[in-house]
Amino acid sequence: MAIETVEAIPLRRDLGERFANAQKWIDSREYCLVRVVDESGTEGWGECWGPVAGNREVIEEYVGPWLRGRDPQAVESIHDDLRYRLRSSYHSYVPVSALSGVDIALWDLKGKRLGTSVARLLGGHTRSEVRAYATGHFWPDVDSFEAVRESVVAEAEGHVDAGFDALKNKIGLERIFPDRGRAADVELVRSIREAVGDDVRLMTDANHAYDPGDARWVGERLADLDVHFFEEPVVPRDKRGYARLNEALEVSLAGGECWAFLDEFDECLDRGCVDYLQPDVTSAGGLTTMRRVADLARARNAGLYPHVFGSAVALAASLQLLATLPDVPEPMLEFDRTPNPIREDLAVSPIRNSGTTVPIRDEPGLGIEIDRDVLSAFRTD
Ligand code: CA
Repeated sequence: MAIETVEAIPLRRDLGERFANAQKWIDSREYCLVRVVDESGTEGWGECWGPVAGNREVIEEYVGPWLRGRDPQAVESIHDDLRYRLRSSYHSYVPVSALSGVDIALWDLKGKRLGTSVARLLGGHTRSEVRAYATGHFWPDVDSFEAVRESVVAEAEGHVDAGFDALKNKIGLERIFPDRGRAADVELVRSIREAVGDDVRLMTDANHAYDPGDARWVGERLADLDVHFFEEPVVPRDKRGYARLNEALEVSLAGGECWAFLDEFDECLDRGCVDYLQPDVTSAGGLTTMRRVADLARARNAGLYPHVFGSAVALAASLQLLATLPDVPEPMLEFDRTPNPIREDLAVSPIRNSGTTVPIRDEPGLGIEIDRDVLSAFRTD
């Protein structure tokens, strides 16, 4: 049963209100989904990280013609061949998000062909639900730090009311309020801590806003606020800086959404860059890389908190990996709570939290069915 169809499907939705983190304003959500169908008509769905442009061209013009006619069951050899081929064709730049989307679709297809969940193919379920942390707390388009703080604190209280006991917010406010400096970031986290109390696990994400000195200054103060991890303090390429900070600071560092493939995560753990790895299934190399990184994390006793900021496909794929992880260190799901109809509505049966956890499905493939009407409504080509 060879692969017959490889399709890139662009989805886009403008947001009613834009919001920011330390790197950018976000005014739309855009995804490039991948659909792979074999001769039997079984289909698999995947998702690429980043904008549609680039991913679509790589998949349709380069990957698709090469993939058609191959055996879809050979997921890992396709993964490795594709990495080699993309690297040799694009020199130092590997379009890893396109590879990731194809890889996820092949795992989904394989599970559906065999009538089993991807989690079972990856080693089996060690859990049927996973603790989820509410991610969000981006900054609204308002004039003052006080107004940002009011919005973020209200959002945090809302997540606790919705049942969550773990939250992650955004810091690096100096970009928007230069006169407030790095102290505003600590003040923001302190305000959230005071609002939600000591029993809620707090995490904070700088989206690599800082130079090493500011990162150390902020990190020292985050420990006093019992912050569980300090995410992406410095630019992802500065692995020496990560290692120095992680050694110097009491608060644990987390990172990995900008890293890809087993060898880069291996290097980061080897250097002691972070205590918690955050590979993204849509950009790290798909579920094949996620499983390899999970094995690496298990061997090194490192935590694994997959980065998730995608559609229902990325969320479902991340849950299948999370199902298989050991209990210690306890994994967590990054559960994006920003308003996003593509994430909410794309699966016929939406993925929702039940109190502090999100249930993990044990159904064929990724465990979701794509709603064709929703797909058509958000399709942009
Ligand atoms: Ca992040």
